[in-house]
Amino acid sequence: MLKVGLGLRTLLCASMLFAAICSYADPVVERGFQQTLDGRSLAENAIAVVNLLVGDAALALEPAWVELPGNVSSRVAVYVVDDRQGTVVTPAAVPNGCRCVFIFPAVVTEWVRRNSAGLGRIQLDAEQFLSFILLHEVGHLKMGTPGAVFREGRLSQLNVEPSRAKVAEEDADNFAADLLKARMAKTPVGEVSLAANWVVLELTKLSWNMQAFRTLDEFGSFAVGKPLVFFDDGYSHPNLAWRILRVADRIQGSQETRYLLDAFEEARIRGANPAPLYQRQ
Ligand SMILES: [Zn+2]
Repeated sequence: MLKVGLGLRTLLCASMLFAAICSYADPVVERGFQQTLDGRSLAENAIAVVNLLVGDAALALEPAWVELPGNVSSRVAVYVVDDRQGTVVTPAAVPNGCRCVFIFPAVVTEWVRRNSAGLGRIQLDAEQFLSFILLHEVGHLKMGTPGAVFREGRLSQLNVEPSRAKVAEEDADNFAADLLKARMAKTPVGEVSLAANWVVLELTKLSWNMQAFRTLDEFGSFAVGKPLVFFDDGYSHPNLAWRILRVADRIQGSQETRYLLDAFEEARIRGANPAPLYQRQ
């Protein structure tokens, strides 16, 4: 992947004289990462959707690689970051100690590929998926809750207290869900309500694909609550499948969305039961 810096800043940062100053000022370098050119147009499109939906100048996201005229101190800079070590498992995050957002395009692409592949799946749209993720990150920014802690080019689990992190994640999801619900209903129907509907449609597709995974690829997992299917992968963000079902239910509030969420939670209870499946001889 290409590593970048741009324009005058790049020239200055390339010199020995300014290298130390630049690495200090750049929150990406500070955390042991590099910016990348990959995924910039994807990020720009998702940022445009999110700014349209949020409609709040104080929370407006701005690509960090675009020079803005005038006073831009209130902007939230978005950096597209290369996960060189392949250890980051989140598509995007608000780094601890920075009013900014990191997007990891390689994680986004791989995540969309993996969750679109297989029997009965619908092809996901990276831009709409990323828009939802960025709405969640705006939720973190609005509430001032910490996102992820990065150190030396890696996602750090240290200093993330699990129960507080879980509440912060649910709050950020609630922000995204409530905003989407409100914007979907916005009248007259126009670009804002249409944009919200596209993102919600993506969540519905994602719900469907995850259900297909649990039903077709992991047939039988529901009956026993197979941990591999129903539990976290160790990151502080709660199980993504559960989060998507929860967000869908918060937005749509139908009997069907409630049933899917309840069924998933009941499977987790079964999976947490240490009783053996088979009687020992
Ligand atoms: Zn989060």
